[in-house]
Amino acid sequence: MTESEIRLAQLAQSIGRARRIASGAAVTEEPAGYPSLAADFSQTKSAAVSEDGGSFLKSQTVSHNGDCLVSLLASGSSGNAAFIRCGRTCVLIDAGISCRRIEKGLRRFGYALSDLDAVLITHEHTDHVSGLPVLLKRTHMPVYTTQETWQAMGNKILPYMDRFVRLPRRLSLGEMQIVPFATSHDAARSVGYSLYHGDCKITLATDLGCITPDVMTAASWSDMLILEANHDETMLRNGPYPYALQQRILGNQGHLSNRTAAEFLSSLPRRGMVKVLLAHRSEHNNTPALTVQTMRDVLTGHGLVIGQDMLLRLASATGSVRFLNGGTL
Ligand SMILES: [Zn+2]
Ligand SMILES: [Zn+2]
Repeated sequence: MTESEIRLAQLAQSIGRARRIASGAAVTEEPAGYPSLAADFSQTKSAAVSEDGGSFLKSQTVSHNGDCLVSLLASGSSGNAAFIRCGRTCVLIDAGISCRRIEKGLRRFGYALSDLDAVLITHEHTDHVSGLPVLLKRTHMPVYTTQETWQAMGNKILPYMDRFVRLPRRLSLGEMQIVPFATSHDAARSVGYSLYHGDCKITLATDLGCITPDVMTAASWSDMLILEANHDETMLRNGPYPYALQQRILGNQGHLSNRTAAEFLSSLPRRGMVKVLLAHRSEHNNTPALTVQTMRDVLTGHGLVIGQDMLLRLASATGSVRFLNGGTL
């Protein structure tokens, strides 16, 4: 184990007595600061994941873990939206595609817009919120995000001010407990989310300029992880983007490279097999093959066995996800 792994393992052990959010509790009124409280919940699990890992292998776009379902309806710079169901509670994280596409995506799993209990927004960039005004127009659900993100979204969502709920540090929503955590990105105040349901922990961490301690804590012990693997650094540096944009993407408030994502996964504290959806892949500065190659090189270099220690899948712009097993696409 590396020093940071040991430190995190010790941290996790010390939080073994951490409290668990009482299910059904009202939304807390704590101010949104988002130092990760994920650790509060990460120890609620007691067993390794996935008696039903097979369903993850078989399905093309959806992963079931116990009573949880995770699906990317779209992923990448052309639009992002994740549908997550825990028990009977359904949320959408981000709405960066048209409402019609969201509706169509939900229908594939037998759900409708009216089944959504809330929409959670990570940050105000167009690829995460372009479909939000119409989505709010067509539904009655609340939208959770930071005050800064809400303001940064501008006039288009002003008619829906009464639907805005400022993110607390943690909240209970039906059968789900949700903990936002701060991310390093060039947005007003961006966040990722960890969702808890029984023994299942699901984390979405995309649009990351770098791996901060908050991101590390949030992703640790997740059963399912949606993680950004945005670009191949060499391809980006030799690609068509102007220098300034390259620097923005490579910077600490930009996006995560394949290699950084792979190194992060290699050092991630986990219990049993982790199901990982590699998301937000650049269309211009990355390829599925490069992502696979990098993941294979780095993970196996750290002694991890793909398909055993981790199940990896690649998300595409349209949300279809391919399973990666030992490097075979
Ligand atoms: Zn962004
Ligand atoms: Zn984005």
